[in-house]
Amino acid sequence: MSDMQAKLRETAKKLLESGEVGYIIGWGKGRTNKTSPVFVKEPAKVDELVWNEYCLNTLAKYTMDNMYPEKKIGLCVRGCDSRAVNRLIQDNQLKRENVYLIGLPCEGKKDPVTGEMVKKCIECMHHNPLEADVMVGEPVQEKGYPDRFKDVEAMEALSADERYEFWAKQYDKCIRCYACRNVCPACNCRECYVDQYRVGWQGKQNNRAENQVYGLTRAYHIGDRCIECGECERVCPVGLPLMKLNRKLLKDANELFGEYEAGMNTEVKPPLGTYKLDDHEEYM
Ligand code: SF4
Ligand code: SF4
Repeated sequence: MSDMQAKLRETAKKLLESGEVGYIIGWGKGRTNKTSPVFVKEPAKVDELVWNEYCLNTLAKYTMDNMYPEKKIGLCVRGCDSRAVNRLIQDNQLKRENVYLIGLPCEGKKDPVTGEMVKKCIECMHHNPLEADVMVGEPVQEKGYPDRFKDVEAMEALSADERYEFWAKQYDKCIRCYACRNVCPACNCRECYVDQYRVGWQGKQNNRAENQVYGLTRAYHIGDRCIECGECERVCPVGLPLMKLNRKLLKDANELFGEYEAGMNTEVKPPLGTYKLDDHEEYM
């Protein structure tokens, strides 16, 4: 057993025994070498928690199932999870006092099938939790991601027709499973507009036009709020390169409103969530 996994279990046990938290959300053993989210409520069951190179899922969104916990929720957070926590706090979907953050510095995770480092971790800009109530393990060295907008620039170099053709072909593959929305900490409406029925809103058919409306609406909805966790792209069963779309919106926001990364803290408001008289109209 790794030192960090042992320390995580020890920390979890103390938190549960002392009553500091009501339960802990972490990763547990899945089938083969996969992991899946677990909810540990009893000190005797902390051995269900694992920490290894396959702890892929972001966990913060599970707190939305319990908006008014009797005790704090213990939440395991890497860099991406802590940005997701900030995202949910800023969107009034989580109160900081309702969570106890167990920080885990993360070197990056692997695909359980190929054993290769997953794309979202290669592109990660914050391996260490931005905030934690207790840290398990020593901070790792941050490497940044200098190529953050490289894919977007390549896309911008294409003509408008070529760009349309590229995205039309991508969204032709979309099966509207909504996995991208379900994992997304920025997609946190209690009832998504795609699940409602209103004349003139999002149609239910799976075709080019409706799929594109879904993709574009979602991209704009999370345009300045995407924390770049890469989960949407990771879980898409048909392999849509969704980060190209997300980062296009973020690149525009950076260029129009100044350097910005979502979820870095709870103070700096997303540029589209604030209104200024000298706002750039081009963005909209
Ligand atoms: S996860 Fe992929 S296939 Fe599913 S709705 Fe999102 S883009 Fe479409
Ligand atoms: S990378 Fe995808 S899942 Fe993560 S916040 Fe952005 S849109 Fe949501």
